[in-house]
Amino acid sequence: MRYISTRGQAPALSFEEVVLTGMASDGGLYVPEEIPMLSHDDLAAMAGLSYAEIAFRVMKPYVNGEIDDATFRGIVEEAYATFSHDAVVPLNQLDANHFLLELFHGPTLAFKDVALQLLGRILDHFLQKRGERAVIMGATSGDTGSAAIEGCRHCDNLDIFILHPHQRVSEVQRRQMTTVLADNVFNVAIEGNFDDAQAMVKASFADQGFLDGTRLVAVNSINWARIMAQIVYYVASAVALGAPHRAVSFCVPSANFGNVFAGYMAKRMGLPVKQFIIATNANDILHRTLADNDFSKQELVATLAPSMDIVVSSNFERLLFEAYERDGAAVKALLERFQSEPSALAEAPLARLRESFASHSVSDATILEVIREAHHRTQEILDPHTATGYRAAEQARADAATPVITLATAHPAKFAEAVVKAGFPGVLLPPHMDDLLEREERYSVLPAELSAVQRFVVENRR
Ligand SMILES: *Cc1c(COP(=O)(O)O)cnc(C)c1O
Repeated sequence: MRYISTRGQAPALSFEEVVLTGMASDGGLYVPEEIPMLSHDDLAAMAGLSYAEIAFRVMKPYVNGEIDDATFRGIVEEAYATFSHDAVVPLNQLDANHFLLELFHGPTLAFKDVALQLLGRILDHFLQKRGERAVIMGATSGDTGSAAIEGCRHCDNLDIFILHPHQRVSEVQRRQMTTVLADNVFNVAIEGNFDDAQAMVKASFADQGFLDGTRLVAVNSINWARIMAQIVYYVASAVALGAPHRAVSFCVPSANFGNVFAGYMAKRMGLPVKQFIIATNANDILHRTLADNDFSKQELVATLAPSMDIVVSSNFERLLFEAYERDGAAVKALLERFQSEPSALAEAPLARLRESFASHSVSDATILEVIREAHHRTQEILDPHTATGYRAAEQARADAATPVITLATAHPAKFAEAVVKAGFPGVLLPPHMDDLLEREERYSVLPAELSAVQRFVVENRR
């Protein structure tokens, strides 16, 4: 198994190289050269297995023997032992044939833990084997930073530097990062906004000379291993509801498209999926593209579901590559045009997408209404991201007979602001986190200057 770029010009890489590399040198994203298949019998044999065992079986062909089976099994088991629910990602039935897949039982209460608990351990394994160390840099407006820190805190060969905008993330989100006191974790509060932090990370990746030879690794959602880890819960939840003997549909609150793309991979591997419903908030490029073939950027809108606030969906490129039947030159031309002007997909690729995907966009007012209504009907308090999914599933599902699984991407306590706005007194943090507001914090405040940030990284890495 090799990995190739969606823009067709970068060299093909092994699994190990692709995990350590991130973006391809031609500006594209890496995808597997062939998609491994799960047969009817493979899927049927997964009924009743543990999440870790299903994870091992689904991911094994992508790892391609580059980590021996016993070691990889150990990595997977360790990664998912950090989740507080024995089922790792339990299903919760809401209504007749509408289920929530609770992806928020990991250390930071959002679905990004599923991928990052695994990615940190895989990176550490390969670095150990090579006798190398690496530095991770990332910018966060909240969610991803804490999941990356939790995923790397035990990794001996990694130092992680996460930049967040000073005094512009919620207290819970800041504390989920700054109360991790491990020696290899460095939180930097930048005196600026998220874009300043992001720009300094980008500049550091573009010119890595300041690290004199130490590898800089990205753990954002373009890393293939994150997609790979997310394929697993589509398979596990569908099998729990009767796959391969019956099909299911999925509804996915979406932003950078990594999550729902993983679902599409599960379908291509042989999982019977009737429909993927893409839920967006007011930042609706995915919905505009699918519904109206309006593939254009629009101003960013700050919404009650902030982890879905995006202008461009980076992983959509991976789906375009499939829709354009793996024509890297066509994908490259489309995306280069899109950077500077409103664009549209060609007819045949758009028709292919519409065979598998539907979409729906949900406003802030509707998010609040859905949180109230869902509670009234089911006694569940949904987080605002999950609320977009709940509504989109009801609006866009093709039929009532096929079970629909809405991905619950965060715990409501993590986004209590929206829950309070919807009229509830708030949501308690789960028991293992109830002292979060009393824990000791550690972080450094730095000016929004590239040289200051890079000096900090060089002086503090181990
Ligand atoms: C990251 C995130 C999303 C969006 O996921 P993508 O893979 O970027 O589409 C949705 N909800 C929550 C809570 C998130 O943290």
